[in-house]
Amino acid sequence: MHNPITKLIAIEKEIQSKKSQSKVIVVSKTFPMKDIIPLINHGHIHFGENKVQEAVEKWTTIKQDFKDIKLHMIGKLQTNKVKFVLPLFDYIHSLDNLKLAEKISLEQKKNNKRVNVLIQVNIGNETQKSGIDPENLRQFYNKCITDFNLNIVGLMCIPPKDENKESHFKKMNELLSLTNLRELSMGMSDDYMQAVQHNSTFVRIGTKILGPRT
Ligand SMILES: *Cc1c(COP(=O)(O)O)cnc(C)c1O
Repeated sequence: MHNPITKLIAIEKEIQSKKSQSKVIVVSKTFPMKDIIPLINHGHIHFGENKVQEAVEKWTTIKQDFKDIKLHMIGKLQTNKVKFVLPLFDYIHSLDNLKLAEKISLEQKKNNKRVNVLIQVNIGNETQKSGIDPENLRQFYNKCITDFNLNIVGLMCIPPKDENKESHFKKMNELLSLTNLRELSMGMSDDYMQAVQHNSTFVRIGTKILGPRT
């Protein structure tokens, strides 16, 4: 039988065996709360969602009952949704443009709450992919700090699909080391151990823990 808790524990063991402190974000998008509750009761803290509306419906009550839970927005974020994100989420992994930075800044003031933000990097320089190109990262980061007072804590990437992912993880780690940021969000169900080898601090895992999404 498929048991998400068993899967999670096995993955955490595998990560620790590499002397890595990388934390597992259980990506719970599309799964109903009844599938997620056992992991919460097991004591898991970090969960990821990619759609604002779905997250608000699923997590608003649960988060009031389980105050330790950290919710991570990992999907493309529209500026008009930021007002719903700020009260609920603890991390935004998908900051990819200045309009969004400005909006987060505004909502932070309204909510009197600062959220942990990671800059999404378009590490493969793909034309259709979201994210800041590596060569513009320094300037973008500086603007987020000086103009918008954002709490930038790290970098995130979704590497190109069918290339050698490892070279991209390596580049991300090099980019991070040029900053004084601490978090590196990279690695999913089929490549998280490669990401861990390159100092990922958050791996985002859905399928391998909760099973296939319908
Ligand atoms: C869905 C998703 C994941 C998890 O993917 P799996 O392959 O199911 O582990 C990780 N990161 C992002 C940004 C996602 O949208």
